[in-house]
Amino acid sequence: MNSKVSMIEDILRGKNFKLTSSRKEIIRIFLGSDKHLKPEDVYELVKAKGISLPTVYRTIDILKRNQIIEEISIGKHRYYELKIFSGKKLHIHFKCDVCGEIFDIDDQKLVMDLIDITSNVESEYKVEVEDLLMVLHGVCEKCKNKTII
Ligand SMILES: [Zn+2]
Ligand SMILES: [Zn+2]
Repeated sequence: MNSKVSMIEDILRGKNFKLTSSRKEIIRIFLGSDKHLKPEDVYELVKAKGISLPTVYRTIDILKRNQIIEEISIGKHRYYELKIFSGKKLHIHFKCDVCGEIFDIDDQKLVMDLIDITSNVESEYKVEVEDLLMVLHGVCEKCKNKTII
């Protein structure tokens, strides 16, 4: 984890961003989580260390602009997850409307189909697709089982 923190530190230093201990702490949160976190979630995890909500927002903004984390907008909420080191390229999400949990859907076939679709769009519309965010909504397995009982 520490070598990953210092790699991120190098990236940011190269762009003249100073990495304070608070910012490093926030980076550790993203490195240690495979969840999709709202800024408030991050704040809950670091506030005991005296880190303020504006610092969380500012750090998330820096990390996002440097492609270290990825933003997922769902409705009026924004979630963030680690992008660097995650090895995930095309991304499909499923959000449960009952419990609010967000899952990554790791389906190779689906991803290949999406790559096909994006390359068709690229040639048809003469554009270059850099990213794709897809969010499916519904009820997760856990909540589905609960509603039956
Ligand atoms: Zn659910
Ligand atoms: Zn995700």
